[in-house]
Amino acid sequence: MMRALILGGIADAGLLAAEIARAGIDAVYSYGGRTRAPADQPLPTRIGGFGGASGLADYLRREGITHVIDATHPFAAEMSRNAIEACTETGTPLIALERAPWSKVAGDRWIEVPDIAAAVAVLPEQSARIFLAIGRQHIAPFGAEPQHRYTVRFVDPPEAPLPFDADVIVSRGPFTLDSELDLLRRRTIQLIVARNSGGDGARAKIDAARRLGGVPIVMIARPQLPERLRVESVTEVMQWLGHRTSLGA
Ligand code: NAP
Repeated sequence: MMRALILGGIADAGLLAAEIARAGIDAVYSYGGRTRAPADQPLPTRIGGFGGASGLADYLRREGITHVIDATHPFAAEMSRNAIEACTETGTPLIALERAPWSKVAGDRWIEVPDIAAAVAVLPEQSARIFLAIGRQHIAPFGAEPQHRYTVRFVDPPEAPLPFDADVIVSRGPFTLDSELDLLRRRTIQLIVARNSGGDGARAKIDAARRLGGVPIVMIARPQLPERLRVESVTEVMQWLGHRTSLGA
């Protein structure tokens, strides 16, 4: 009998959960537990880590999981690696639901870097007004460049003091082109540091930077992962599970 595990983390995971519930598929939705009060969705849930790849493999066996859907954030590489390893070990089919990365278009000024350390390394020496759009677990390395005036934006208020002087915005979004234009203008942002998450939800800041004549963006590439089956839409995951969906493509 089919029993699916959704490794949640992105907005599409919620849409997928709704489709899976509608199709009457037995499934569990797993949250990483990093953000507070996750959005409601209609499947039984569990919260928190499994204890690495071996812990996940044990869980898959114990719970009789027949299909795993990795719908974690493209930068949640640890969980994705664990899923590949545990599914290989247990012979459980795995699919990743992952939106395509953004591509640069005319008018964008991107400085493309492979990781956070490289992003810190390309910051200017002189003080600049910088918007760090990267999530609180990644900001510590910017403490090495304290001369800048940083603006940071988090989903939840920070629990510990930040390692540098910063204006903190707490917001879950969604962010619109207008609201991002307003933020960049009001704070006279000179440089943005962003991760190439892809999707529509986070792209407004990229569009806003272009509109303002090409505010430079230090764009951090996604982590490299071993080969895996990967699709970009909920519909394709449902097809993989052998079901039709009520969604468009
Ligand atoms: P990560 O580095 O890949 O994961 C760290 C550990 O958190 C994993 O090894 C795993 O613990 C646990 N974990 C992650 N996702 C889980 C899930 N869906 N269910 C159960 N355990 C999970 O990921 P992260 O960057 O810390 O992100 C944590 C969660 O927040 C993920 O679900 C991710 O999708 C979501 N999220 C992350 C970002 C981001 O920017 N990184 C943005 C939006 C949402 P064990 O090894 O003990 O199993």
